[in-house]
Amino acid sequence: MIAKCLDINEKGHLTVSGVDTVDIAREFGTPTYILDENTIRENCRVYIDSMKKYFGEGSFPLFASKALSFTEIYRIVASEGMGIDCVSPGEIHTAYKAGYPMEKAYFHGNNKTDADIEMALDAGVGCFVVDNREELVSLNAAAGKRGMIQKILLRISPGIDPHTHRKVVTGSVDSKFGTAIETGQAMEMVKAAAECKNLHFAGIHCHIGSQIFDIDPFVSAADIMFRFIKDIKNETGVELEELNLGGGLGVPYVDTDPVIDYEDCIRRMAEQLRKTGESFGLKMPKIILEPGRSIVAAAGVTLYTVGSFKNITGYKSYVSIDGGMPDNPRYALYNSQYTILVANKANEERTVKCTIAGRCCESGDLIAEDIMLQTAERGDILAVLVTGAYNYSMASNYNKIPRPPVVIIKDGVPRVAVKRETFDDLVRNDI
Ligand SMILES: *Cc1c(COP(=O)(O)O)cnc(C)c1O
Repeated sequence: MIAKCLDINEKGHLTVSGVDTVDIAREFGTPTYILDENTIRENCRVYIDSMKKYFGEGSFPLFASKALSFTEIYRIVASEGMGIDCVSPGEIHTAYKAGYPMEKAYFHGNNKTDADIEMALDAGVGCFVVDNREELVSLNAAAGKRGMIQKILLRISPGIDPHTHRKVVTGSVDSKFGTAIETGQAMEMVKAAAECKNLHFAGIHCHIGSQIFDIDPFVSAADIMFRFIKDIKNETGVELEELNLGGGLGVPYVDTDPVIDYEDCIRRMAEQLRKTGESFGLKMPKIILEPGRSIVAAAGVTLYTVGSFKNITGYKSYVSIDGGMPDNPRYALYNSQYTILVANKANEERTVKCTIAGRCCESGDLIAEDIMLQTAERGDILAVLVTGAYNYSMASNYNKIPRPPVVIIKDGVPRVAVKRETFDDLVRNDI
């Protein structure tokens, strides 16, 4: 199966970590997000252990919590000793309320308001990844008022297109994130940061993209970032201690996607980076990575109930489910591919070509088009696999549809981590 926690039991039903998904659907209703806790914990450990082993003491991963953000997730990653990054005051609030040790949190975002900055300082966020000049000025002033020195990284745009070969370094200079080395603006930011009395300018950050299946783009980015660290040392005398290369390692959603070994990627990355560092005569900085998808995606399955059918003669055959783009907007947004099956007929042949449609009043509300599926009937349970990342966290109430619950399975025992929204929740703030 596409994820390690999945299997099929003697009844021919899909299981997550040994638990029958048909039983989960019966007990908790549908749609429901399922997460396998052990998968998440194992993925955290692979990153933590391999980064320590290959990059050395002081190098560590941050869970990019925009991939999956609710209270219990922050508790789980905290108990693994994993860092986090947050991209909004809402994520900071959720982590803080969960009791997450905020000194291990990094705060991203290309437009942090003064209120966001104050709030993050109140919460004790360990490091700001400063995106722009306005933020630098505002943060320096806010830290000064508190009589404190705030640690920062600067977000840099190395000008890498992750889909091209490492030697073909193109685009991405034109981005709303960070400042570009190429235009000279990054060096101006560096000089301004080094002058800020209330900021500790510890390093630089870049994030080159997502669903990346080889290490070349990271190695190319590191080349450019190392060269920049060297230039910074030459021009300002500041020797940076941290290099954050962002997230982006991919996960397989369908059988044709590559499967990658994260430990091996980190080992090879470390090997390359060490060479690059040496070639510039630099001391190896602490390396930080920010995996989101590769920590949580494979832990997730979404369950739906099949409702109605439409076989349009000469055209598509639609299978409609009781969820859709409000709980999983990724097909509508990116045409993302998924592995889908009828959970209570998991052993049967896939003989029907069909399109999975949601229940919204929106023709773009699809989960997959023209996939092969088992023969489905009204009342069957449909499972969409590898939905742990960017599903719950991207969900909306479009069409006034309540968001599904999150059920976490640990060692064969399911528990609700986020309750299903009620209709009353939908009008809670209405006056
Ligand atoms: C989205 C994001 C990540 C995580 O990316 P994944 O592809 O989920 O690993 C990490 N860092 C930053 C700054 C991001 O915006």
